[in-house]
Amino acid sequence: MDIDIKRIRQALTALARAAATKRLLTTDDFKEICDSLMVAKLTYELDVGKDRYINPVTKQLIVADNIVDGRILLYDSGKETDMVMYYTYYHNDREFVRAFVEFPKGIQKSDLDLTMYQFIADQVYIMVNRQNLSIMLEFEEMYDDRTCIPNSKYLKNDYERVIRIVPANELYVIFMNLRNFKYLNEMIGMRGGDEALSKYAVALHTFMGENECACRVGGDNFALFVKKENIDKTLEFLDAVKLDGLPNLDGHDFSISAWIGISPPEEGEIPIDLRLEHASIACSLGKQRFKKKVMFYDTALAGDFSRSREIVAMFHPAAKKHEFHPFFQPKVNMLTGELIGLEALCRWIHDGKFIYPDQFIPVLDRQGLIHDLDMTILNETCLAIKQWLDMGLEPPRVSVNISRKNLFIPDIEGEILGIIQKNGIDTRHLEIEITESAKEEEFKRLIDFLAKLKSHGLRISIDDFGTGYSSLSLINNINADIVKIDKSFVSSMLNDKKSFILIETIIRIAKRLDMDVIAEGVEIADEGRALIDLGCINAQGYYYSKPVDFEAATKIIKEKGFKPIT
Ligand code: C2E
Ligand code: CA
Ligand code: CA
Repeated sequence: MDIDIKRIRQALTALARAAATKRLLTTDDFKEICDSLMVAKLTYELDVGKDRYINPVTKQLIVADNIVDGRILLYDSGKETDMVMYYTYYHNDREFVRAFVEFPKGIQKSDLDLTMYQFIADQVYIMVNRQNLSIMLEFEEMYDDRTCIPNSKYLKNDYERVIRIVPANELYVIFMNLRNFKYLNEMIGMRGGDEALSKYAVALHTFMGENECACRVGGDNFALFVKKENIDKTLEFLDAVKLDGLPNLDGHDFSISAWIGISPPEEGEIPIDLRLEHASIACSLGKQRFKKKVMFYDTALAGDFSRSREIVAMFHPAAKKHEFHPFFQPKVNMLTGELIGLEALCRWIHDGKFIYPDQFIPVLDRQGLIHDLDMTILNETCLAIKQWLDMGLEPPRVSVNISRKNLFIPDIEGEILGIIQKNGIDTRHLEIEITESAKEEEFKRLIDFLAKLKSHGLRISIDDFGTGYSSLSLINNINADIVKIDKSFVSSMLNDKKSFILIETIIRIAKRLDMDVIAEGVEIADEGRALIDLGCINAQGYYYSKPVDFEAATKIIKEKGFKPIT
């Protein structure tokens, strides 16, 4: 049987050209080569690894666009066939691809030049396979392998495409972190967690509209961009994405919500990378600092963020240069005017200027740097006490603030006691102020911490009492010596009935539990009088003195007292 070699060569070249492009090969691409070889139908059967050829989200075949009887159809002339030949190609010695070549009725095997058919089949296989490979590589590069939805590289490319159709200032860019995902993982196990992640991803991906895109960034973080008109609908959707059919939930649904950070349309001028970064900053500030589910990025937030970063960067050099010092604020018995204590409060003196705790303590606390600061202030306070003792003075107990974050530093008690011992100070000169705690595990740790320090003679006060989340009844379980009533209640007690009642209650409970009470933030004599009437006779506040430096505190200790409130 005669075949036209020239035609075959041209057809092969055309197929090679098509296979070198990014578009999927279609049956049209195989028409010429099949016709010139008198092939009526060409199919590939894929063995192991079929899944790899299918996008689980779109369910589309990556290789070509139709499967017939479990085989990928490359070409079909529609003619009836009665003779089939097949060629097998192995991958990794195991997986194989089988090419089925079918001939129109009437053609005999003996009519064919078998060596040439083998040769052509090999060529076609190599071309198709090469294209599959490049598509698969691209798939791997652009899609997330856990969930099979796009990855952030895809999202960024797609954003560039979309802003040629939809103006960038009509797009919201969102970064999100799933809420309670850890909890879900614990509840239904790691495998269940993976499944939940995939289900969430697919739900999200399916939700997105035309010229919108969602991706998995990694972990339980996702990002997306949506058109302005869809933002409300999208936020509503993200508020509770229902997942069903998860293992270990007895058939119950589970809804996942997310912490959401938004780069608003006004940011449309800037590159997508930066918009994503802004959205991600808003997301983590919303989660960690503001406890706000949906947080918009704006310049105030940006300023805040860069100031925090600045403080973190400045901290270690400043500590090395000894820029942190305790100032001391007197605690006074209002009835007698006697000086009963001092509180050490940190001051950061940088280039001769003061930086106040409100500006840096919360940042250091969040960034896990507060431990270094607290130990520095404790040490400096010990040095001050030693100096006073060396001067022949009898300083009152000095309290030091210890952040709750320290509870999770291994053997923090040992470290605190070590610093005191190293300075040769008796623990009766010192007191620890720590804030109350609501979380149960933290609460247990707090009780342990207090017991250990108390057994070494340190006094403990619970700071800012009433502002935390713990209920009043919890103080029952805390074995502290003193309760400090927060200044926010004191400053409003004269004109806010609620504050007044709260103070009254705190005092009553503390008395019943044999604890001392002290009120913070007393600024005027009337507040002092009202507190005395309620049975709280100790106070600290600007009425007596602001926190002062070592020299001024020395003077206060020497003077030994203030005027009683009458
Ligand atoms: P705090 O422990 O509740 O300290 C009392 C704060 O109230 C101090 O502010 C003090 O100056 C201020 N204050 C006292 N009396 C009055 C008053 O009559 N009126 C008004 N308006 N304010 C009064 P400061 O020194 O700015 O410290 C703020 C917070 O920073 C402290 O609150 C404490 O939580 C934290 N802090 C300060 N030093 C340290 C430290 O060394 N370690 C840790 N972990 N936290 C510290
Ligand atoms: Ca305090
Ligand atoms: Ca306080």
